[in-house]
Amino acid sequence: MTTNSYDVIVVGSGASGSFAAKELTEQGLRVLLLEAGPAVGKQEFGPLEKLTKKIADINFWERARATLQGQPVQSKAIFFDERLKSLFVNDRHNPYTTPRDAPYLWFRGKQGGGRMHTFGRVLLRWSDDDFRMRSRTGSGLDWPITHDELAPYYAEVEDFLGLYGRCEGAETLPDSECSHNAELTEAEEIFIEEVEAQHPEQRVISWRYMVPDRERVPAPAQGHDDRSPDGSLQLHGHCHYLRSPYRSRDRRGDHRHADG
Ligand SMILES: Cc1cc2nc3c(=O)[nH]c(=O)nc-3n(C[C@H](O)[C@H](O)[C@H](O)COP(=O)(O)OP(=O)(O)OC[C@H]3O[C@@H](n4cnc5c(N)ncnc54)[C@H](O)[C@@H]3O)c2cc1C
Repeated sequence: MTTNSYDVIVVGSGASGSFAAKELTEQGLRVLLLEAGPAVGKQEFGPLEKLTKKIADINFWERARATLQGQPVQSKAIFFDERLKSLFVNDRHNPYTTPRDAPYLWFRGKQGGGRMHTFGRVLLRWSDDDFRMRSRTGSGLDWPITHDELAPYYAEVEDFLGLYGRCEGAETLPDSECSHNAELTEAEEIFIEEVEAQHPEQRVISWRYMVPDRERVPAPAQGHDDRSPDGSLQLHGHCHYLRSPYRSRDRRGDHRHADG
């Protein structure tokens, strides 16, 4: 019998878990990443073009069918698409309760990579306004950190993900470290000009986003056998095996915001 030992066990391979595993394995630690769901790769998706076509639709009938089949909460997610329903949990099998006066739609996925398969890929920093929510509005919580303290870490993650965006100097949204310029259409440029001319106190900005990965394995969870590190990373659950460090941030793909 083989006995493996690990320095760290990380539970869950979503954004939090896989970034934690990435960092720890890059420091040379042996990490066991436990994942409850199955591994997900390219084979689970149809051609990207087909998925992006219906982005603007409300998909009423698809959402209704999913509701009847046990996903009344999940089917309310933005960009919900029947072809991606397996990337959302079944609400009947994963019930939760909320206080009567504070209902909350909890969108969840149980698979390798977690919600990185379904999230919108829009990556915005929090400002000190966000971190001081309670002081400003009386609800929520104040965080014991500021944007300046987090800024170097934001920059590292943004750089790794190869963010698209622009430096806009908006007071309420700190600029990100954008490796790629987000190009706007002529119509979008005109829209910005018009709105800002009529409302000088308002800023219209482009969103900041990462491109989808055609291999469908979320960036921090990608292995690179040819650059094998000291530590190894195993993704358990359905025996998906990955190694760190991870592939370079220079990925090719569709630069427009696309589902999944
Ligand atoms: C439709 C949608 C759009 C979104 N769009 C954006 C966006 O544009 N920008 C943005 O910043 N955020 C967005 N978000 C939010 C963002 O996706 C999440 O905040 C983030 O992915 C959460 O990462 P996580 O690692 O905390 O959790 P998850 O990604 O949920 O990962 C949790 C992992 O743990 C696993 N797990 C659960 N239980 C166990 C167990 N007992 N043992 C082992 N493993 C377990 C799960 O299978 C999963 O892989 C969006 C979310 C959704 C649903």
